[in-house]
Amino acid sequence: MEKFSLTDIKKMNYSDVYHYIYSNEKTSKQSIASALRMSLPTVTQHLNDLLEEGLIEKCGYLKSQIGRKAIAYRIVPDARLAIGVEILSSRSFITVLNLYGHVIDRTKINLQFQQNESYFKELSEFINRFISAQPVSEDQILGIGFAMQGLVSQDGTEMIYGKILNCTGLHIDSLQKYFKIPCRFIHDAECAAVSELWDNEEINDAIYLSIGHHLGGSIILNRMIHNGRTGRSGTFEHTILIPDGRPCYCGQKGCAECYCSIDGLLLKGEELENFFAEKEIRNPSVLNRWHSFLNDLASFLNNIHMSLDTIIILGGHLAPFLQQTDLNYLHREIRQITAFPENEDFIFRGNYQENAVSRGAGLPYIQMFLEEI
Ligand SMILES: [Zn+2]
Repeated sequence: MEKFSLTDIKKMNYSDVYHYIYSNEKTSKQSIASALRMSLPTVTQHLNDLLEEGLIEKCGYLKSQIGRKAIAYRIVPDARLAIGVEILSSRSFITVLNLYGHVIDRTKINLQFQQNESYFKELSEFINRFISAQPVSEDQILGIGFAMQGLVSQDGTEMIYGKILNCTGLHIDSLQKYFKIPCRFIHDAECAAVSELWDNEEINDAIYLSIGHHLGGSIILNRMIHNGRTGRSGTFEHTILIPDGRPCYCGQKGCAECYCSIDGLLLKGEELENFFAEKEIRNPSVLNRWHSFLNDLASFLNNIHMSLDTIIILGGHLAPFLQQTDLNYLHREIRQITAFPENEDFIFRGNYQENAVSRGAGLPYIQMFLEEI
């Protein structure tokens, strides 16, 4: 049997008290003591410690069965914050998250990505000004996650593949030197999947496919992102869908990226909103293009599903435009082309959020804090 020291038990009790308050909007000392089977003096001691550290606060009274009102406690959601930054070629989105993972502030900067000092300096100064405007001190900010379009080393310090932004080899030190707060890179597709996981407790295993201007994938196993041996797991976008097809930025021809991404769907200069407005009024050429897109997507999803028999969640900027009729179409098409047709639906639309990627870049810091407390 594992042996725990007195300090370990104290730490576990402290953590249990915090987590109990975290998962209950408001609670009383008595409720904590009965739910956690702890003595009232033990709970009192941990409540006092948590109050002193500013992690919880008193918030009025709760009715109690014995008539006397009990003091209500709740966590201070802004006691710690995390920052998520989505870096894109011509702009960056910055979000601030509280301990519940809610976005409490956000901003954006139109700045052309360049792998040089003036870019890193301008971006960092902008983020630092934004952080200074937050109503917390710098040491309450847990970290800054930079969501990058590309593959990131396991420790989040280096871009191991970054052809979209042409930043392969970029080290986090280029940004870290401007911040006292810890920084790391995270693959953008992983960020969107993490955001989805945070909101949906029912997901256990899934493939998350982010359909944005570019395509990105993540494998979720046991509610964790499966990065693989070298961080390349889930890079379905560069599997060949049409041999010798359209040229891909990766150097190959016919990758799924060229057919199943928004860039693969739209014509040059076309806007997504306009495309779907035209589809709504049944413009024949747009409808044709949409069906051809769905057919390619069906082949692609079938290939993925043959490798990993889990549900597939479609997210990214395309998700809000996907209708149930489109998902039905994909299922029908897949049943016709697959070697192993199944009756149950397995493709779902994600809980799309405008800032899913930047939020997902900050969430790991919140998660880490909650695990360590
Ligand atoms: Zn490719």
